[in-house]
Amino acid sequence: MRKEQQRLVQDIAAGAGKITVLTGAGISAESGIPTFRGPEGYWTVGSKVYQPQEMATFHMFCQMPDEVWKWYLYRMGVCGTATPNSGHLALVAMEHFFGDRFTLITQNVDGLHLRAGNSLPRTYQIHGNVFHMRCSLECTEQVYPIPEAVLPKNKEESLTDTDREHLRCPNCGARSRPHILLFDESYNEHHYHFYSSLSVARQTALLIIVGTAGATNLPNQVAREVYRNNGVIVDVNIEANTFSQLAQSSQHGFSITGSSSTVLPALLEILTGGTL
Ligand SMILES: [Zn+2]
Repeated sequence: MRKEQQRLVQDIAAGAGKITVLTGAGISAESGIPTFRGPEGYWTVGSKVYQPQEMATFHMFCQMPDEVWKWYLYRMGVCGTATPNSGHLALVAMEHFFGDRFTLITQNVDGLHLRAGNSLPRTYQIHGNVFHMRCSLECTEQVYPIPEAVLPKNKEESLTDTDREHLRCPNCGARSRPHILLFDESYNEHHYHFYSSLSVARQTALLIIVGTAGATNLPNQVAREVYRNNGVIVDVNIEANTFSQLAQSSQHGFSITGSSSTVLPALLEILTGGTL
């Protein structure tokens, strides 16, 4: 980072404006979690291979609920064995430092930010969380942890009767579903913080975008809202992407090419003036 860029973010840190961090798959990739939008998300049922965009739909859940649950329980296993990296930890320290000025908006469903120590009220999991479930009939808006009796699956294992018994809505007994925003569903406020994300974006003085290329709708709207309100956008990514272009075209914004596990601790140091 150049000197004037460092001074710029330090001035924002010394002010009263909101500091918002938007994260995507890149930060989790450094903990060994593959992007399930790619080949890692392909799923074989019988002789047919499904793409993630076909599996992760409510339509598929209605047709083959056991298979969709198996796929998510496999992902839950992958996410459960991963551990937060130094990028996640830097964001925990950032939240401690800035308190209510800090919001973390994450597209990741792996729960790593919460496990690292970020607080639930300030962490907007806008695509859900793979360790949680809710009623498939929406009898209640309540979200429940997946019961411990339901174990992660490898690709060959089938759902057991015990799994089926526990993957039920505790309120009405209907089948539960993964607490995940599926490809054929829309954002809403209650489950995915749609309006609160946009509201935070409007008040954001500094938006740090980490490891995401802007493929999904709400992150794009958040970034554009900050841009429109003349907030400073800093993009952290291992390669150029639509957000790095947006950052560079925003007033005083810039992009940092590098891995989030090294860039975020360095950025934290600059933002907090070494007083941690
Ligand atoms: Zn229910």
